[in-house]
Amino acid sequence: MDRISASGKKKKIVVVGAGPGGLTAAMVLAKRGFDVEVFEKAPVVGGRNAELAVGDFRFDLGPTFLMMKFVLDKAFEEAGVKSEDYLDFKRLDPMYRLIFPDFSMDVTDDRERMKREVARCFPGEEAGLDRFFARESDRFRHIYACLEKDYSSLSDFFKPTFLRALPFIPFGSSIYQYLGNYFNSEKLRLAFTFQSKYLGMSPWECPGFFVILPYIEHEFGIFHVQGGLSEISKAMARVAKEQGAAIHLNAPVKQLLVEQRSVKGVVLEDGRRVHADATVVNADFAHAMQTLMPPGALKKYSSDKLKKKKFSCSTFMLYLGLDKVFHEMPHHNIVFARDYHKNTDDIFRTLKLSEDISFYIRNSSVTDDRVAPVGKSALYILVPVPNNSSGIDWAREKSRFRNMVLDIIAARTPMGDLRPHIEAERVVTPDDWEDAGVFYGATFNLAHTMNQMLYFRPHNKFEELDDCYLVGGGTHPGSGLPTIYQSGLIAAHLIEKRYA
Ligand SMILES: Cc1cc2nc3c(=O)[nH]c(=O)nc-3n(C[C@H](O)[C@H](O)[C@H](O)COP(=O)(O)OP(=O)(O)OC[C@H]3O[C@@H](n4cnc5c(N)ncnc54)[C@H](O)[C@@H]3O)c2cc1C
Repeated sequence: MDRISASGKKKKIVVVGAGPGGLTAAMVLAKRGFDVEVFEKAPVVGGRNAELAVGDFRFDLGPTFLMMKFVLDKAFEEAGVKSEDYLDFKRLDPMYRLIFPDFSMDVTDDRERMKREVARCFPGEEAGLDRFFARESDRFRHIYACLEKDYSSLSDFFKPTFLRALPFIPFGSSIYQYLGNYFNSEKLRLAFTFQSKYLGMSPWECPGFFVILPYIEHEFGIFHVQGGLSEISKAMARVAKEQGAAIHLNAPVKQLLVEQRSVKGVVLEDGRRVHADATVVNADFAHAMQTLMPPGALKKYSSDKLKKKKFSCSTFMLYLGLDKVFHEMPHHNIVFARDYHKNTDDIFRTLKLSEDISFYIRNSSVTDDRVAPVGKSALYILVPVPNNSSGIDWAREKSRFRNMVLDIIAARTPMGDLRPHIEAERVVTPDDWEDAGVFYGATFNLAHTMNQMLYFRPHNKFEELDDCYLVGGGTHPGSGLPTIYQSGLIAAHLIEKRYA
């Protein structure tokens, strides 16, 4: 086996960043006998999937929905362990509540109950639900198979997996248009298309390809991890270390070491050079291209070309530690703007701050007693907003926008005015995301337009430099946790194959 170099040492892999993508690659490669060193600039692991402690309250900084748990399970299995031995999963039912201006609907993955709920809220539309489940399972199987593959070359792209999926890709139709095949009511279509926001995209622009998203939720459910989804990153770091990887925190990488178009390791901020046989980059794709590459090293992803790419929206976040638990709200809640289409246009087209906003409330204390002291709760509010290409002055808007969000929560949810209950608070704006190294503060990375997907998304084996691999939301297959784990798996497999 070629995993041992001529000097008798194991092949060395450096991973830049301990986010979900980097940790997946690290734990699998360590298990396969590589000498893995992870360098993370922050004091904790997890990146956008880290824990955020505010006073006595614990929040997930970013991801709160765990979908396609089976991909996470696979990543742990490939590292030689079982996810259940490290994490306490809870399947959520209802999956979430949708709060429209005139009524609310609880969405469940129990098909009979879901049908009754559709009949209650949208009488006569139940048959569309049956057709949706019958037709979409085939599409999911074919499209998901494409997301598991590597697209390092054009010949990889035109392999049978993709060719078989082609008839299932509704080219030219947005996810919202496509749902018209099943449902007439605009609100019911929204109930099956708002998921495009998971990718930071509008349902009117998100390709019909992603109709697999609502199908995935209903087929495989949505999971919570007790303590928060940040527990996943902590567990991955534990597994990586158990398999022999070293994880260095507070260890920012300054630049990749590039010699004759091949990456030979990294230079750390403290000046140290760490040589590697392969380097895996998990830092935000566009930010890494701009900051970690020596000047002139890139053509396809040069600064000018990057700016022409499409990026996701950003998010305005409120993390509130409250003196009570709101049992009247389930774990996940989505509040729709009165004019959802206009709000979406503001976020993605006119790049303005809406007064009539849609937002998400995560009330994890109703299912998880580890995130707040007894009788109190940790409430997470996410408002999709334009990314920083908008020029919005967040220093000026922050406080006004925070108060507007609280006013709307008081008017539109049973929780009422939260202000008298706030014991701890943290606000995160798009500027904070950008300061943390997220290009344009676009929290869900490169947009998932068809011309930025599959072969056209940054490859897991970097196309511009040798011995360099890319993982994370800005790379193939995409920006949600399951696809990010998949990017880590694909990169690990490619490295393994290279040294087989
Ligand atoms: C608010 C929010 C909500 C989300 N909700 C969901 C959800 O519910 N479900 C879902 O599936 N997905 C969700 N996502 C999307 C996605 O799952 C997360 O963003 C995920 O954490 C991205 O993982 P990643 O591997 O791309 O890297 P990141 O989490 O971005 O981690 C990259 C790491 O690299 C480090 N790094 C950067 N530069 C350097 C350097 N020079 N040297 C060393 N280290 C460096 C960073 O500090 C960071 O730790 C959400 C994202 C956000 C922001």
